[in-house]
Amino acid sequence: MSVVDVQAGCFRNLLSFSFRKKRSEREKNDVPTKSARRPTELPVVQVPEAKLEESERPGLSVKEGELPPYANAGFFCAHSNAQAYADLVKPPAYSSCELGEYFRPEVLETIEDTLEKLNPALRELSLDILHHPEIQWEEKRTHDTLTAFMSSHGFAVTQHYLDLPTAWRAEFTHTSSSNADAKLRVIGVNSEMDALPGIGHACGHNLIAIAGVGVALAIKAALEKHNVPGKVVLLGTPAEEGGGGKINLLDGGAYEEMDACLMCHPSPGPPNYVSIGPSLACQPLEIEFFGHGAHAAWAPWEAQNALDAAFLAYSSVSVLRQQIKPTHRVHGIVSGKDWAPNVIPDYAKMHWIVRAPTWAELVALRERVKACFEAAAHATGCKLTLKAGPGYYDLRQNTPLGEEFAKVVKDFGVNAQFDEGMAASTDFGNVTYALPSLHPCHTIPTKPNGANHTPQFTEAAGTPEAHAKTITVMKGLAATGFRILADGEFTAQVKKAWEEQMIE
Ligand SMILES: [Zn+2]
Ligand SMILES: [Zn+2]
Repeated sequence: MSVVDVQAGCFRNLLSFSFRKKRSEREKNDVPTKSARRPTELPVVQVPEAKLEESERPGLSVKEGELPPYANAGFFCAHSNAQAYADLVKPPAYSSCELGEYFRPEVLETIEDTLEKLNPALRELSLDILHHPEIQWEEKRTHDTLTAFMSSHGFAVTQHYLDLPTAWRAEFTHTSSSNADAKLRVIGVNSEMDALPGIGHACGHNLIAIAGVGVALAIKAALEKHNVPGKVVLLGTPAEEGGGGKINLLDGGAYEEMDACLMCHPSPGPPNYVSIGPSLACQPLEIEFFGHGAHAAWAPWEAQNALDAAFLAYSSVSVLRQQIKPTHRVHGIVSGKDWAPNVIPDYAKMHWIVRAPTWAELVALRERVKACFEAAAHATGCKLTLKAGPGYYDLRQNTPLGEEFAKVVKDFGVNAQFDEGMAASTDFGNVTYALPSLHPCHTIPTKPNGANHTPQFTEAAGTPEAHAKTITVMKGLAATGFRILADGEFTAQVKKAWEEQMIE
């Protein structure tokens, strides 16, 4: 066998080559053959179980096998999760908004009646979406189901809106003869649709989908019954979980005519609680390291190791995390193809997500993270390519809209607070930068450590209790949306507040 043959062959060929070379020497010296000496099993090493001694800490005892309960408060963007949980167990009194009489109580009655009648159909719709999860940009069935539902309830529907295969638009306009020529105000509502790979509707977007439908239909009923002119536009917004569907819709002008836009999101947390807080700005990054493959034992010096580059990048980011703010997040994964331990990988791919409380902070943090990838490429001699995915802006909740919503849901026993918000991100943040918007996060009953993006949350999103909590939120959003259409003075306040929030 020539040297060239060995290099072109597999690990087995290489072994047989070196083994054959030495056999004659062994035979000469009467040394046992390699196969006779090779143990069939490695000796078992007993590792003693480590015992963690901890002093008793009252109030923080956890049963064996359970994570501490304050892990549930992880969605709140607080400096200390434990403190955040302690604060939330006893929700603070209203501080940021004064609650008074809400706008036109008779309209709220219409909204309540409408949602009560729709309740069984909305429940059916929610379970149908839950049991047929579709990931980002593949929400075909959900698109068809929801557009058929809106059509059958008197909305003008545009399927595959703006050439996005799973986006849609449903609109309803009510004009009254007295002011047929006046410019109508427009309220926007969003229905999310996408699930997560492998774990279904683990972010509860089935509940968001039906919330959008319920809010739009309740506003329609109120406009008709109380003869108030106005337009409701419900957008079916695909690909929230990383695809940035709302950014495509924004770029295509879908939000341009809206005076304000509303949606909601389920989350874990204390019962009957709604968080009206910010979320983190977010930027996905796709990194590729291109190296040169080689035999891992025969000629490792010929290689540029792309897997090493990925591990160096991972380690560098891990070290960087110690020097970033507690409100910042950097997290990622590494993947490759056709890897084998005896071949030095010539390619590695990484997906990272960088998050910070504002887009401006994110841009600064992103540069520091980028330096980690560049350093890894330099150290290993690999080529680096870096692609930035859709950037999600932080969520800027409109204060008057939030106060109006809080007033209404308080009547249903729900405590809505302008709090620290969530340490997650949404493409609705970009909508809040473009126009006055509201995105309350309402709590639904969840199992311990079963927050968003876990299979336990998928289960929670299908319970009758979660459905009931979402119906209450629909009442608050529909009443708030109706006021935008019916009360010009309120809409002016909402717009003024948005302008002020955007120059902060
Ligand atoms: Zn999610
Ligand atoms: Zn979500």
